[in-house]
Amino acid sequence: MGRHSRQIPLFGDEGQTRIAASKAAIIGCGGLGCNVATQLALAGVGTLLLIDYDRPSESDFNRQFPHILNPEMMKCDSLAHWVSRISGTGCETVPEGFGEDNFESVLGGCDVAVDCLDNNDARLALNRACHASGIPLVHGAADGFLIQTTTCVGRPCLECFLKPGGAYGGPSVGTAVSALAGMQATEALRLLSGSGAANVGFFVSIDLSSGSYRRIPLVGSDDCPICNTHPGLF
Ligand SMILES: [Zn+2]
Repeated sequence: MGRHSRQIPLFGDEGQTRIAASKAAIIGCGGLGCNVATQLALAGVGTLLLIDYDRPSESDFNRQFPHILNPEMMKCDSLAHWVSRISGTGCETVPEGFGEDNFESVLGGCDVAVDCLDNNDARLALNRACHASGIPLVHGAADGFLIQTTTCVGRPCLECFLKPGGAYGGPSVGTAVSALAGMQATEALRLLSGSGAANVGFFVSIDLSSGSYRRIPLVGSDDCPICNTHPGLF
């Protein structure tokens, strides 16, 4: 039995072949990025583009497990090292700051982008680049036990509902982060395999401290300067 034999019934032979030929961008190599990269690599994604300009600190180690092994490395390089130990997935790393100037050029050739960022300003820049390039975007954000996700393919997009904001450095636990990352990685694999994503046009939020779950339809904003003005490449 091959490594992927238990998941092929879920994606099909053709879907698994597509996954193996695909390239996924992971923007942010913190708690979400470490878990998303691990799951996509184990599932057989061909290439990962890992983007992060930061180095780990000890307070990251309750959730950013690959960096525990190489605390002196850049996060993207440490994660690439971990991925190479557990899978045959190739990695490209971008150990630089990113923003509107370089998102679009960096993401070229990617089949999906997974938002593993920690602030809305960077998310909105990523959203603009993905929309202009026709790259599906799987959003995720965690705030303590509260997690949220949606998948943007064209309209509506993140700019329709997300407010600008600075870096988030609040409470964070690995269990909540990995729960959200599992949802994001599943959505990415469904997109890459051609199975169809579940959360396009829906905003999902779960409060893991109470068990409450919300899944509400998203409507494209009439005022959105991104998806209501430019059709993008979708
Ligand atoms: Zn929009």
